[in-house]
Amino acid sequence: MRDDFPKAVAETLAKRVGNRCSNLECRKRTSGPHTDVNKALNVGVAAHITAASSQGPRYDSLLSPEERRGTSNGIWLCQSCAKLVDNDEARYPKKVLIRWKQDAEQQALREVESTEQPSDLYFENTEVCGGKGSVGPGGNARIKGVKGGGGVTFIGGSIKGGDGGAGGGAGGDAAIEGGDG
Ligand SMILES: [Zn+2]
Repeated sequence: MRDDFPKAVAETLAKRVGNRCSNLECRKRTSGPHTDVNKALNVGVAAHITAASSQGPRYDSLLSPEERRGTSNGIWLCQSCAKLVDNDEARYPKKVLIRWKQDAEQQALREVESTEQPSDLYFENTEVCGGKGSVGPGGNARIKGVKGGGGVTFIGGSIKGGDGGAGGGAGGDAAIEGGDG
């Protein structure tokens, strides 16, 4: 017995994250135009945070069937990430999926509310580090927007240059540059 999501629940999950994969490392767009003008492509999946059936990953026997197929128990992912989280439940426990979902929804809300051009690069609570020089200078940590893009959004996290190597090399630079408009 599987408690699958009704179509309306899947559609709501997709829209709440702006039709992007909720895995913060991925954020792949999951919809686009189909060659048939009356159709849209969809490569997204309404994945279960706790499994639809007792044999599945992260199954929670305390949920009712209604709760199990409700929006609270779903997360919108691309096909690849949906497969990933169901293949290794120790690496992707319930709390990780809930964090992805919350962050993806917050990001979608900010983009909906914002009147600015969306950034072409987005980092939240991300640590960006340059390489460590073994003898020579350390590497640079650099985030650069693309030409014509909307720039770079960086919230929380840190950016740091690489460490200098044993040979007394200089540490690398840390820089964030917006894209050229
Ligand atoms: Zn994904």
